[in-house]
Order: sequence, then C-alpha cells, then structure tokens
Amino acid sequence: MAAKRSLPPIRRLATAIEHPSTSTSTSGSSSSSSSAALAQGFNLKAKSRKQELGAVRSNWLRHEVQEIFDAPLMETVFRAASVHRMHHDPSRIQLCTLMNIKTGGCLEDCSYCSQSTHHKGTPTKATPLVKLDPVIEEAKKAKANGSTRFCMGAAWRGLEGRERGFERILSMVREVRGMGMEVCTTLGMLTPDQARRLKEAGLSAYNHNLDTSREFYPSVITTRSYEDRLSTLQAVRDAGIKVCSGGILGLGEKDEDRVGLIWEVGRLPEHPESFPVNTLVPIPGTPLEKNDPVPVHAVIRTIATARIVMPKTIIRLAAGRHTFSETEQAMVSREGTHNAIFTGEQMLTTPCSGWDEDKAMLDRWGLRGLRAFEDEEGNKIDAAHVQVENDGSAMLKPEAEKIVGETVSSA
Ligand code: SF4
Repeated sequence: MAAKRSLPPIRRLATAIEHPSTSTSTSGSSSSSSSAALAQGFNLKAKSRKQELGAVRSNWLRHEVQEIFDAPLMETVFRAASVHRMHHDPSRIQLCTLMNIKTGGCLEDCSYCSQSTHHKGTPTKATPLVKLDPVIEEAKKAKANGSTRFCMGAAWRGLEGRERGFERILSMVREVRGMGMEVCTTLGMLTPDQARRLKEAGLSAYNHNLDTSREFYPSVITTRSYEDRLSTLQAVRDAGIKVCSGGILGLGEKDEDRVGLIWEVGRLPEHPESFPVNTLVPIPGTPLEKNDPVPVHAVIRTIATARIVMPKTIIRLAAGRHTFSETEQAMVSREGTHNAIFTGEQMLTTPCSGWDEDKAMLDRWGLRGLRAFEDEEGNKIDAAHVQVENDGSAMLKPEAEKIVGETVSSA
C-alpha cells in the first residue's frame, strides 16, 4: 500500500446551496436559516423531490431539468459543484484515450461525421480494421502517459456479418483489460449476444451516444432511430457492461434539446455511468461544416445541469475540448463539475489536446489523475455523512473523513 497522502482541501462545502430566489423550500418561511436550507439541499430533511439536491433519481420531469438549466448560470454551477462533492473527489480527473480502430466507410448518415459514406468530399478515407499489435502499442503509450481508460471506436453501423473482425476486437478488449486499464468500445448497434461476448472478454464500458433530444434527433441522423439507440443501451446494461452515453453540442440544437438529452438519460432506470459531452468540430464535406462554434457558457450550463440530474455519473469532456482556451476550460472545470477528459493525439477524426499539454494544465490546476476502476471502489460519501454547522457551512463527519482517507491512502 502506498504511503498515506494528505487529504485534498476540498471537503469544506460552501455555505448556501439554495439561493433564496430559487429555493425549493416548502416551509414558506423566508427567515429559514442558511443551515436549514443547506440541510434541505443535502436531503437531510427532504420533504419533496425538488429538495433532494444530490439524490439519485430516475423520475425527473422535463420541466424540472429545464428549470435547473435556465437558472442563473453561476447558481447552477454552484449547485452542481456541491452535488459533485457529495459523490466525487473534485481534485481527481480521469484521463481517457480514444483510438479509431476502423476509420470511415460507415453506412450511417450522422450529419456531423466525416466517416459516413453519405457525405462525399470529406477528408476521411476508409481503412480496414487495424491489427491487434498497433492497438496494444497505443494502449501502452496511453497508459504510460497517465490514461486509465482506453476506448476503441469502429465506424460501423453494427457488427452484423463481421464475425472475424469482432473476434479481433474481443482480443483487443482482453489485451487492454489485461494491462489493468478500463476498456471501452464504440462499435455501433449491439445485439444482446454481442454485448454478452464483449462482457465476457472484459469490456468495462460501451459508448453509444443519444447525441441530442428525441425531437431534434431526426434532423441529425435518419438511418437509425432513437429507439434503436436505446435498445443498444439496454443490451449493454443487461450484459452488465457500464453504459457510456452522452451527446454533442453544436448540431444546431436549441437549449430545449440539450435539456431533452439530459432528461432522456436522467430518466433511464439506471443512469449511464458515463456522460460524454462533445462539442462539434465542423468537418468540411459534412452537412454541418458551417455550423457556428458552441459558446463556452452553453457547455458549462449543460455539464452543470447533467451533474445535478445524474449525481454519480462520470461526466467526460470529450471532442472539441481543444477548441477552448485554457481559461475557458478552467471555467468549464470550475468547482469540479466533471470527472474526465479525453487526451492524446487524436479524437477519432478530430484533433485532441496532447498528453503533455494536458498534464501541464492539470498540474497548474492542482488536479490529479483518477486510477483505473477508482469510481467502482465508490465514493461512499452521501448526505448522511454531511454535518451542517451553525454558520451554515457543511463538513464531513469524522467517519466520512476516514472513508476518504482510506480511498486516498490506497491510491
Ligand atoms: S458517428 Fe459513428 S455511426 Fe455515425 S456516421 Fe460516424 S462512424 Fe458512423
């Protein structure tokens, strides 16, 4: 066991979670103490669903999510940061690396993607499925650079008729998992049997994004339905594989669509373990090549809302991060509302911030990498471990400090 490290200075929670103008108190008393508001915020005395800040729920109503999204930005961020601290260590961030193992030639028509055969004139050229050795090399490089999750993406509609390729991918999964890394794939639609085989090979997670709201989805993709995507997510869940499903901002969607996406994943019987947030990198030759960049405040608002709706989910800042300055990225990360970033040489067909650049940035911010499978060990802290003090601030109770200490000491 490694030497015990000092605890990061993150456990003192700020004073007021509920802003008076957005308080959901049912007491009707404007003179409620800030500690009472805080207690309500932490669900210590929750009387209604709206008071359950930090509680894991699958019964979100869409207008509730919209209200969170529409609240003053700094208010939403502050609430999100408070929820984050109840379930996660905000001084930790996971580095993930994504490798494209089969590029281009995809039969789907996702309007943002250069790998679709429907979009002529994109710079992406189709290549066959890579061999096993280059994957192992890339995974080793990613691990040596601090990545603890290795994701492999293939530009396929699904695995039908690809048995030999699927066998090779199962070998890739076994090899990468054998290196002690979390391993994730994104291979298109899956049947329950294919999901079972991936699980048996050691797959940790499967990525299949819902992309956007159910209503806006047909404007983006026509070759497979929202229900198709949900069926794949169900097959993944049933196989015992963790679900990674998020979206892309900048497709031309409205705020309601961002809310719609979060609401869809937030009302699944089990929330996805991962929610990647991508921002569109317009690629010449795709229908969305002229889309405007996503403003950073939209990214912040989306991540903060997702954090409140899905308190335990790992939120991953994915494609498009490199388009934001360090200052903007710091704003997105303010108070720690997400848990992971993608880093490396390439993000499928778009550029990515490099390892050295990211390591230097995280050093400047005082963040440390998350170990593989650390979230499975669980941050066992919940509202019952929070003690509200007379001044309205909240501290972890001693037994909770012990839990955190044990987690940190085994790092
Ligand atoms: S996003 Fe995936 S499924 Fe859609 S066209 Fe690109 S590779 Fe195919």
